[in-house]
Amino acid sequence: MEPQRSPLAEVKGNVQPKVPPPPAPSRLPLSGSRLKRGPEPMESASEPAKKRTRGLGTAPQTDTSRPRAPRLSTAPQRHSQAAAPKNQKPVPTVPAQKPAASAAPAAGGKKPGKRPAWDLKGQLCDVRAELQCCREKTQTLDRENQQLRDQLQEAQQQAQALGAERCSLEGELARVQAQAEQGQRELGSLRARVLELEERLGMQEGLVHMLQREQLELQEERRTLATRLEEQERRLQASEAALSHSQAEAESLRQETVAQAALLAERGDRLHGLEMERRRLHNQLQELKGNIRVFCRVRPVLAGEPTPPPGFLLFPPGPGGPSDLPTRLSLSRSDDRRATLTGAPAPPTRHDFSFDRVFPPKSGQDEVFEEIAMLVQSALDGYPVCIFAYGQTGSGKTFTMEGGPEGDPQLEGLIPRALRHLFSVAEEMSSQGWTYSFVASYVEIYNETVRDLLATGSRKGQGGECEIRRAGPESEELTVTNARYVPVSCEREVRALLRLAHQNRAVARTAYNERSSRSHSVFQLQISGEHAARGLQCGAPLNLVDLAGSERLDPSLALGPGERDRLRETQAINSSLSTLGLVIMALSNKEPHVPYRNSKLTYLLQNSLGGSAKMLMFVNISPLEENVSESLNSLRFASKVNQCVIGTAQANKR
Ligand code: ADP
Ligand code: MG
Repeated sequence: MEPQRSPLAEVKGNVQPKVPPPPAPSRLPLSGSRLKRGPEPMESASEPAKKRTRGLGTAPQTDTSRPRAPRLSTAPQRHSQAAAPKNQKPVPTVPAQKPAASAAPAAGGKKPGKRPAWDLKGQLCDVRAELQCCREKTQTLDRENQQLRDQLQEAQQQAQALGAERCSLEGELARVQAQAEQGQRELGSLRARVLELEERLGMQEGLVHMLQREQLELQEERRTLATRLEEQERRLQASEAALSHSQAEAESLRQETVAQAALLAERGDRLHGLEMERRRLHNQLQELKGNIRVFCRVRPVLAGEPTPPPGFLLFPPGPGGPSDLPTRLSLSRSDDRRATLTGAPAPPTRHDFSFDRVFPPKSGQDEVFEEIAMLVQSALDGYPVCIFAYGQTGSGKTFTMEGGPEGDPQLEGLIPRALRHLFSVAEEMSSQGWTYSFVASYVEIYNETVRDLLATGSRKGQGGECEIRRAGPESEELTVTNARYVPVSCEREVRALLRLAHQNRAVARTAYNERSSRSHSVFQLQISGEHAARGLQCGAPLNLVDLAGSERLDPSLALGPGERDRLRETQAINSSLSTLGLVIMALSNKEPHVPYRNSKLTYLLQNSLGGSAKMLMFVNISPLEENVSESLNSLRFASKVNQCVIGTAQANKR
């Protein structure tokens, strides 16, 4: 491709002549003879320049290739002098032609002087010569004139050509200028672009600088990392060595573990066998103690109560002396109605009773619980357990079951203690693969109606009536409809339930009736145990029953409307308590019919009475002499129960 040339350069190339113009020709043409002559001796080297300035015009600085005006011949100095203004008298150097007449004077080489006036011929001759000279001059001038005209014409043509050329050049100039403007604009935009690029370049340079810095930092980091890598590799090698060592150790440990596991399994089997043996022996022990046991507890005399006469209540030691746990109780009663023949009051009658255990007034809650703990273990082993508190109102049943005022751990009753014991034993058993769960319910049976003591919300206090139903058509299990069954796993939850039951009882309390003493409270805990590894399950209910006051109303007393209700209430209580006694008797006598259905209480507890069940009855006694009659009634009832023996218990194992 041909390199692009600037339009400007092109124009310059056209305009500037490549060859300097030849010296301008003189305005006047030389005569033919003079053309061949060399330069006048007088002419100096600088003369051509002068002549050019004097010429018709300086030669136009045009391309030599263009048509040029014909070169004018150099005008001889002589002629230029002749062309001088006419007032300058030309000085003829050599006359062109001397008149013959005056040839003589001129022949001598001397300038002819003024002809004398008389020399008319001579003068004529001179005039002729002068005329001749003038004619020649005129001719010359005419020729010159003609030449000049030609020249002028040629110059005009040249001027015309130059004008046309000027026009085209102007057009070209305009185009070039437009191009130049365009070029300027382009230049401007290019400059802007250059600026922009410079700016970008600056930015890029900054970026490059930054990247270089970063690169340096990264290199530094890389070096650090490489050092660390080396360090890590060293450590890894050390670790690998340690690992292989550990693996060897682990392998030996694994072998040891396998051996240990086998040993452990063997021990587990043995432990399980031992656990089963323990359960069997425990049960045997309980059976030897009796499946129905009766404990008598005498509460202390409370502040403000009259001190009973000495010897009113006695606790005779057992055959082993005072070291034996007390099992006997002697109550003396002075009967005013009986008198001796002499009229002296009859000596008080002693009534002796013997129970599985007797707790005198000073016995603490913990002491009482020690005996119960064994039964709680039986419940965990899968035997139904029923613990009753029987006695007149105010004898200490509720104190025994639930405990004294909240906050004193010493006064905690059987229910919280039994549950704590259950939770801790269940925890211990978990190490042997047993998992236990507990679900609690708490109801009261008042006037043969069942109410939920754990009712919350709108049912609180009123506790919509509940019914005792079988859990399913084929099931032996009983459940109370509308009652809450609450899963419990810790003491805190149990305490909350007892508090809720207390509130529910307080709401139900009426002005003339301390309802809690006129109703049976039944706390039921369904215990479920499972040994998943051996596919064993066991479950049994633990029942803790605070019975209604066993006192009787004297029917001979005049009855007001309130008392009549009370009598009905009392009859219901007495009936249910005697049904309990009858059920126990029937079970003891192995009668074909056990009257469970005669009361709500026995109906609800039927699965926890008899057969495999274990029963414990607390007979609570008031230490006061004024309560002696009720105390005797209670002790007699308890004695009857105590005589009962219910067949060998069977754990509810599946
Ligand atoms: P019940 O429930 O049989 O009607 P309570 O348990 O309410 O009788 O007892 C009546 C009162 O005697 C309560 O004030 C109780 O604190 C108190 N009480 C009962 N037994 C004892 C005891 N073993 N030690 C101290 N106070 C007792
Ligand atoms: Mg009570």
